[in-house]
This record gives sequence, structure tokens and C-alpha cells, in this order.
Amino acid sequence: MKNMVLSERVGKIKPSATMAITAKAKALKAEGIDIIGFGAGEPDFDTPDFVKEAAIDALRAGKTKYTPGAGIPELRDALCESFRQDEGLDYKRGETIISSGGKHALYNIFQAILSDGDEVIIPIPYWVSFPDQVLLAGGIPVFLNTREEQGFSFSVEDLEKLITPKTRAVVINSPSNPSGAALGEDLLRDILKLAVERDIYVIWDEIYKKIYYGQGKLRSLPALYPEGRDNVLVCGGLSKAYSMTGWRIGWTLGHSKVISAMSMIQGQSTSNPTSFAQYGALAALRKGTEHIGPWLTAFRERRDILLEGFTKIEGASCAKPEGAFYVFPNISCWFGKQWDKGVIKDSYDAAAYLLEHAKVAVVPGEPFGSPENIRLSYALSTDDARKGMNRIIEASEALRP
Ligand SMILES: *Cc1c(COP(=O)(O)O)cnc(C)c1O
Repeated sequence: MKNMVLSERVGKIKPSATMAITAKAKALKAEGIDIIGFGAGEPDFDTPDFVKEAAIDALRAGKTKYTPGAGIPELRDALCESFRQDEGLDYKRGETIISSGGKHALYNIFQAILSDGDEVIIPIPYWVSFPDQVLLAGGIPVFLNTREEQGFSFSVEDLEKLITPKTRAVVINSPSNPSGAALGEDLLRDILKLAVERDIYVIWDEIYKKIYYGQGKLRSLPALYPEGRDNVLVCGGLSKAYSMTGWRIGWTLGHSKVISAMSMIQGQSTSNPTSFAQYGALAALRKGTEHIGPWLTAFRERRDILLEGFTKIEGASCAKPEGAFYVFPNISCWFGKQWDKGVIKDSYDAAAYLLEHAKVAVVPGEPFGSPENIRLSYALSTDDARKGMNRIIEASEALRP
């Protein structure tokens, strides 16, 4: 072929930065280099046994064929039941769809609601896939600055200023990847009220809802203001709370009109999520998240090790995460400093320095929209968290002005 043309669409996007760093750290590890990986975007725990058993039973029972495109009815009903019990919200089966992971659910949402040139407001820092998925749907990401010193929060006025006649949606991911920040209930309620007033969607990514270290439990957005529930597209899944990243099960709850459109898109692209994975998911949703208590205890301990570690680095700061399993420290104090191989100019250089010099893998903040930060996942053993943090402190001290 002479002129191998690719679409304009694909020219607008970039590979997932988090997947790239994880691959690089894995390659170095495979060479026998002792790398401590703070890159992972998945829990280090195993999928609970009862979930595995349910999927194995499904395989043995021959549940290996196509299922309805939007997921098996039992799973959609179990999702409704879990929202009824946890949130007091009454969703019907036709207001749910099961997709191949939360990422796929979000992809279908953007495809279903955006036309060319439509705008989607995304607070900074953001999960790397949000802007690229918006671009793939012909939309335009519009970024909302937040206040790092206030735990990456913002005011509803900040949001309102960005709304134009082209705005279709705002994306809220709380607790957040990469910052771990959980937005307050009052702000969330105000965001939804504003969305109702201005007739825009709130895409509510609650994939980390159960991974929360604060008092009480986190509520789903529509439960905070039920009058606004038709404006909300709730996106969730099992990857994080059940450590089921490889299973590829996620979902959306929302108005049946959007769900039907997503269903059509899914029907013409991937069809149903994997049959036996859905049966594993069914067991997971029916049993709930009792397994998560010890995970949270371990995560909290590691989070505190990292938070304390960054207080020992002069000039660095680190907002305290309330949920998820990431810290997102500001390391701009390293910019302009030197090591053997050059000057650290940005978060990419900082990550490269830590990988080469300290043998610690972290993700640069730039692709999350925060060029002064790095992301560290604490989904690794507590010993490694401690060891890795010490390496980072030493690396910081080794930098020359
Ligand atoms: C992990 C993650 C998801 C979904 O992941 P899946 O494995 O596709 O279910 C969605 N949003 C954020 C912010 C995430 O970190």
C-alpha cells in the first residue's frame, strides 16, 4: 500500500500513559532489576474466591454463548437491587446496561450523547481516558481548574463559568483517579442542581465509591438529589472494589433513552460482555463488598506511609486522599535541579529520574492535566511502599541545585 491513511479521529488521541509506564516497569523487572512499582492502576489483592467459583460453575454449566447485548437480566436486576439497598434508589432493568468494563461504559456514554463540536467539562486532574474518549466521539474536552491546596476541589461557580450552549456534560470522578480526592456532598448536590438548571448531563464515575477512608460511606450522586437523577449517568464496575480488572465488567445506570442508545452502540460493536464473567459479577453483586474491610486497612496504612514520606521532602506537598488508592504529590520543587543525566524540567523527567536513579516507577502528572505532580498507586505491598518511599526521599536529596 502506498499511502497508508489513518483516520483523523485516531490522530487526535494518544496511548494511555498509565499503561505505558506499567509496561516499562514490568520490562525492567523482567530483566531482573529490582523495581518498585507505584504505577499499577489495579489492587494487588486477588479476586475473591466466591466470584471465581461462580464463573467456573457458569463455564461448567455451558454458559459460554452469546447473552443479551446489554447483559444477562439477572445481573441487571442484581445491579438494581444493590442500588435499592445501598442508595435507596429505584432503577429498573431498562435503565441499566452491562459493558466490558467501566472504561467501555464511559466510551459508549460519550458515543451516545455527543455530536461533533459538543463540549464536555472535565475537572483537572482527570483520568487519562476522559479527554481522549470525548475526542473519539467528536466532542471537545473543556478543562476545569481546581485548587490543589483545597484537595483538588472547586466551586460550582467555577463550573458554571465554563458552561456554553455547546456544553453537553460534566464528568465527575469521585473519589478521583489520580488524586484520591472525594468531593463534598454539598458541592456534588450543587453540581447536579446546576446540571438540571442548564440541562446538561453529569457523567458520574463512581468506580472507587467503596474504596473510601473517611467517616461513613460515600453516596451515589443521584441519591444526594433524587430530583436530578435523569441528568445523571452513573458509571461503575467491579475492577477496583473486587479486584476484577481482567474480567472486564462495568455498567451504567441512567435514563432509559440514553441506555437504549448505548445498547444499540454496544450491539453494533462488542455485543455482550463475556458470558461467564457476567455470572462471576452476579455472585459479586449479590454478596456485596464484605471482603473489602481488610483491603481498606492495608490501603490506609500504605497511604499514610506515603503521605508522611512526602512531608520529609522539602518543597513537596501532597493533598490527603480520601479514597481510591493513589497519592498525587506536587514535586515541582525538583524542577530545575540536576542529576547525572540532565536537568529535571517536568513531570516526565521526574518520573524518568525516579525510574532510572531510584528504581521506582511512578506516573507523570502531565497526562492527567497536572504537570507539577506525579501519581503513585499504593496498590503494592506495605513493605514495598515503605522501601519505595525511602528511595524517593533519598533520590530527592541526591538532586543538585
Ligand atoms: C479503573 C477506572 C475505571 C474503569 O476501569 P475498568 O477496568 O474499565 O472497569 C473508570 N474510571 C476510572 C477513573 C478508573 O480509574
